[in-house]
Amino acid sequence: MTSHRTRMRMIERLRNQGIADEVVLSVMGAIPRHLFIEEALASRAYEDVSLPINFGQTISSPWIVARMSELLRASAPLDKVLEIGTGCGYQTAILAQLARQVCSIERIGPLLTRTRIRLHKLQIRNIHLKHADGLRGLPEACPFDGIIMTAVTTHIPPILLEQLVVGGRLVFPEGSQKQNLCVIERNAQGYTKTTLEEVNFVPILSGIVKK
Ligand code: SAH
Repeated sequence: MTSHRTRMRMIERLRNQGIADEVVLSVMGAIPRHLFIEEALASRAYEDVSLPINFGQTISSPWIVARMSELLRASAPLDKVLEIGTGCGYQTAILAQLARQVCSIERIGPLLTRTRIRLHKLQIRNIHLKHADGLRGLPEACPFDGIIMTAVTTHIPPILLEQLVVGGRLVFPEGSQKQNLCVIERNAQGYTKTTLEEVNFVPILSGIVKK
C-alpha cells in the first residue's frame, strides 16, 4: 500500500486530472507521502483525499498539493519561497525540491515540533521552519519568488503582498463557505488576481498555540 508502485499510480491519476508540470509530478513521485501521516491512516496516503493530522488540522490532498505547486512554480525554478501553514510538512518537502530555499510558518507549536523531526529525518535541509502567526509573513527573509498559503482566508494583508518580488506570485485559497484557489501576481504596475477552481481548506487563524 505504501510502495513505489502505489505512488506511481497516484502520479498517473494526477496527470489524468490535469496536472501538467512534469517537474512537480516527478518530485511528488519521489517523496514518500505515507511518512507524513499517522500509521493508522498510512495505507490511505496515496488516495486523492485530505486526511487528519492531529490538532484538528488536515494534510491537503495530493491533487491540491500538485495544483498549488504548479501554480507557484509557473514552469520555472524558484529561488526563495514562503509557506504559511506547515502542518505535517508534506507540501514543505515538495517545495524544498522545487526551490532553492523554503521558509515555512506554523502557528501550532507541538505540530511544528513533530514536523521538524520528520523533515530532519528525511534529510531535507534547505528549509527554515518558524513558529509564528503566518499572516504577517516573514519580513526578515523577504522578498520571496512565491508565497503559498495552505489555510483559507477572506482577506490578504498588504504586508504579505509586499514581501513578493516583482514577478512573484501568491497562491492561496480564498473564501469562507465557498472557497476558490486564487493567484495574485505582483507586476511593475501593482497586482493582478486570478480566481480558479473551487476547493476546501481549514481556516487561517490568528495568534499562536504554544502547547
Ligand atoms: N500543507 C499542510 C496543510 C495543513 S492544514 C499539510 O499538508 O499538512 C493548514 C495549516 O495551517 C495548519 O497546520 C494550521 O495550524 C496552519 N495555520 C492556520 N493559520 C495559520 C497562521 N495564521 N499562521 C501559520 N499557520 C497557520
